[in-house]
Amino acid sequence: MLAASERRLAATVRRLGGESAFVTMARAKELERQGRSIVHLEIGEPDFDTPEHIKRAAVLAMDAGWTHYVPSAGVLELREAIAAHLSRTRRISVNVENVVAGPGGKPVIWCILSALLDPGDEMLYADPAYPAYASAAGYLGANAVPVPLLESRDFRLDLDDLEAKISPRTKVLVINSPHNPTGGVLTRADLERIAELAQRHDFLVISDEIYSRNIYDAEFLSIASLPGMLERTIIVDGFSKAYAMTGWRLGYAAMPNDIADAVTLFLNNTVSCTTAFVQMAGIAALTGPDDEVARMNDEFRKRRDVLIKGLNEIPGLSCVMPQGAFYAFPNVSKVARDEKKLARFLLEEAGVAVLAGTAFGAAGKGHIRLSYANSIENLKLALERIREALPKYED
Ligand code: PLP
Repeated sequence: MLAASERRLAATVRRLGGESAFVTMARAKELERQGRSIVHLEIGEPDFDTPEHIKRAAVLAMDAGWTHYVPSAGVLELREAIAAHLSRTRRISVNVENVVAGPGGKPVIWCILSALLDPGDEMLYADPAYPAYASAAGYLGANAVPVPLLESRDFRLDLDDLEAKISPRTKVLVINSPHNPTGGVLTRADLERIAELAQRHDFLVISDEIYSRNIYDAEFLSIASLPGMLERTIIVDGFSKAYAMTGWRLGYAAMPNDIADAVTLFLNNTVSCTTAFVQMAGIAALTGPDDEVARMNDEFRKRRDVLIKGLNEIPGLSCVMPQGAFYAFPNVSKVARDEKKLARFLLEEAGVAVLAGTAFGAAGKGHIRLSYANSIENLKLALERIREALPKYED
């Protein structure tokens, strides 16, 4: 049977990775159906409801007939709103022709990498990372070259190591600040050095800024705003995290025109276009009141403080204070040799769904990821369960 399926499926399928958060979430839901109580800290989605004015905009748009095909690159009014939003928040000048909207940041990333990478090209990326980058690069036959993030640098890159890994085949570097899965944020000095390297070695930078609104101790800075970088940066952002719109599927990117045209062609060939009334809701999100975003962020900060303090109080665990996103990435190497097994144990025995750090790359070894997109009450319950269960854990 395996042989038949091996014959049937394209060999390239074996090069695809995947996002284990969805697998763990499915298992956690199965346990809940069996009557178990599970605290969900596995998936990166705000537990807040989408703000009311955004939902209203979608309903009004549906009533007004936004239920048909629209242009592959996105509805012009949404692209204008995105261009204005990026220009204002990043202090750069983005034109509507630079902007492409798609059904989520993830497919947009897939289309961007498809537009850039030939077999044998190299893509540098921070390890551990959001799994979609390396999966797409591997599928395309490109070389995904990991650059480990250092816990000792609050999960920022070792820039000398980054420089040492640049080669004549380096086409693009992917950065993600604030970062999934560590919550790390690159400093201005980090970004300046990366910008200097990109210009000296002539590579592009994909700056995944999907957590730009989830930042706690610093002001967000985009590498695109540094001198000479706008023409070699592709900014990826979306609505999922900032506006609690994960299920709506709406994301976007801004990039030089030639790349935007190629990305649009990929969208044209795959999804044709992105749901029209969802795009109208996106306009409401960008142009409407922003206080809900600020309120959600304040709440995330409180949750972060409770979770990190609690984790550091559990014997054997230590956790760097994340500066952004909504993830904690504690070091569990004193209590477990195999973080995958520990994550399974915490779900099956303690009823706390978390992910192994290695689900995000080899450099996630010795860590687990907890999403604090959950109530303080549930975070406290999770901490209590972990504290109680850990002494029973054996590798
Ligand atoms: N980039 C990063 C770093 C993420 O963590 C995610 C989602 O978890 C995405 C992009 C894509 O989000 P979406 O496809 O919901 O826009």
